[in-house]
Amino acid sequence: MYKTILVPIDLSEDNMSRLVIPHVEHFAKQEDAHIHFLAVLPPLSSFYGMGSLPVGHYPSEKDRLRHAEEGLRQVAASFNLPEDRVHCSVAIGAPRDRILEQAQSIAADLIIVASHRPDITTYLLGSTAASVVRHATSAVLVIR
Ligand code: ADP
Repeated sequence: MYKTILVPIDLSEDNMSRLVIPHVEHFAKQEDAHIHFLAVLPPLSSFYGMGSLPVGHYPSEKDRLRHAEEGLRQVAASFNLPEDRVHCSVAIGAPRDRILEQAQSIAADLIIVASHRPDITTYLLGSTAASVVRHATSAVLVIR
């Protein structure tokens, strides 16, 4: 039933990614599904004005994407999944938009997200998770 599963990963939150591991492995095993990991980076422009680095010192978009892809591959490797069914991609933009776009473009039939950062107890559902639940056209599994 679930053959194409999108697993969005926030690279800054290892604990959140760890939370979804057993669930992703379960579905991958049950259904021989393809697992698509996606990490979304904030646009470089969102750092401007923070004053931490002069403009010329920001890494290029290409370097950031390459670095993020390496990070994502490491996260993916911590899941026990058959390599030929694992796909990794990185994108830049608003996480909710990129996640929903990717879900459409791979025709995902399931999206698996963590509900929110484990150390933040104020929200039952983080803002990205909430948008995905609200707008996705596929099933969404929210892990708490
Ligand atoms: P919080 O607001 O507590 O950080 P989020 O709603 O952002 O919670 O995170 C919930 C889930 O949304 C994460 O487990 C992940 O699946 C997805 N997500 C959040 N940020 C990103 C991101 N930058 N790239 C990919 N997925 C993300």
